[in-house]
Amino acid sequence: MKVMKFGGTSVGSAERMKNVTKLISDGQRNFVVLSAMSGTTNSLIEISDYYAKGNKYGANSIINTLRTKYLKTVDDLFASEAKRKEIIEKLNGVFSELMSFSAENFSAEDAKVIVSKGEIMSTNMMALYLKEQGVKVTLLSALQFMRLNKDLQPDMAYIETHLNPLIEAHPDTQIFITQGFICTNADGLTDNLQRGGSDYTASLIGVAIHAEEIQIWTDIDGMHNNDPRFVKDTQPVPQLSFDEAAELAYFGAKILHPTCVLPAKFAGIPVKLLNTMDPQAKGTIINNHGCDGGIKAIAAKDDITAIKIVSSRMLLATGFLRKVFEIFETYGTSIDMITTSEVGVSMTIDNTTKLQEITEQLRKYGTVHIDRDMCIICVVGDLRMQNCGYESLITNALRNVPIRMISYGGSEHNISFLVHKEDKQTALQALSAQIFK
Ligand code: ADP
Ligand code: ASP
Ligand code: MG
Repeated sequence: MKVMKFGGTSVGSAERMKNVTKLISDGQRNFVVLSAMSGTTNSLIEISDYYAKGNKYGANSIINTLRTKYLKTVDDLFASEAKRKEIIEKLNGVFSELMSFSAENFSAEDAKVIVSKGEIMSTNMMALYLKEQGVKVTLLSALQFMRLNKDLQPDMAYIETHLNPLIEAHPDTQIFITQGFICTNADGLTDNLQRGGSDYTASLIGVAIHAEEIQIWTDIDGMHNNDPRFVKDTQPVPQLSFDEAAELAYFGAKILHPTCVLPAKFAGIPVKLLNTMDPQAKGTIINNHGCDGGIKAIAAKDDITAIKIVSSRMLLATGFLRKVFEIFETYGTSIDMITTSEVGVSMTIDNTTKLQEITEQLRKYGTVHIDRDMCIICVVGDLRMQNCGYESLITNALRNVPIRMISYGGSEHNISFLVHKEDKQTALQALSAQIFK
């Protein structure tokens, strides 16, 4: 079986859902993972924010807008009156539940239940539409098998032992459908895999069912060699190694959720990035096949904070870095980039919730400088030492951009630069102009 995941835009209207039906009906047994219709998760978050602020009226007004949108989609999607009635009943159940929360005692658990409803609605609509089309389809609730452990990591053993029997129980099913993004936690309560997490669902399912391939269908023809939102004339990259794809996803290439690559890598399952608007386009294949030499793509990660600690005591002091890292560990904050000199060390973080506490602790060891609103520019490819010349090509492209940090040598396929947020677009464009001309 292969896993086919469709993102928000790919199921964003009745027309797009009909298009998905064509793509999944390829005569093979497929496991389909769907996101919520585009915009829905944002609306659900707005609803829960209104409840959290005690504003039930605000929540109800967004729910009503959402209901109108869904009823219109149902009208456009279904041909038979009976199926329309059936899905409207189901959706009305969801909207009534959304209306039923209390603005006085609204909890974090309630918020997670609300945000789960987008995927529940899209999968119910698709499954019923497939039934109307005569497809042998089974809708599986992700809440029955997708589970996090106490450390909020996927509980792979639970997922495998709960998902495979569900599949075995339906030998005649042609298409299985389930929700991306949503799961339960170790206490069995509704939770999720973070924004954009449907990609992660797809790769966890791929591993659990030993899929031959994981396909991520989206609105662009694969991983482009630079961020198409900031650079013109970017091109799709035909092949990436798992490590290259992981670096790009982690450093801002939105097409792929960063967590999605590792499970597929360890299970050796190829991941394809494909375009629902242009299914014939080759897209990108991510696999273990090596590909020699050259820069493949550039990505950028926003909202980075740089922390520099300068200490005369660092000179020749063993254990200094350990003490610094322990502070970050204590406050559960991971470091992305790091550069050192004999008297100081610079690090970057993207989660600043504990910045104040971290800064106070670091001050025990030296003078601390903070730079906010920074951006990591990450150049990815086969940058092994024998392929010399790529570093100078890259730094030359960035000769007019002020650079705060450079990191090279942490792996053989990444060179990263820290620049100010306002220089991001110039940096991305300059790199594309120099490297992919
Ligand atoms: P989905 O809703 O299908 O999960 P996303 O919006 O999460 O889709 O990801 C697709 C988007 O990622 C594209 O529309 C594109 O704007 C953006 N993107 C950012 N960087 C890249 C890149 N390097 N290659 C392709 N797409 C990228
Ligand atoms: N619907 C969720 C989101 O918008 C998950 C996803 O689309 O992957 O973040
Ligand atoms: Mg996505």
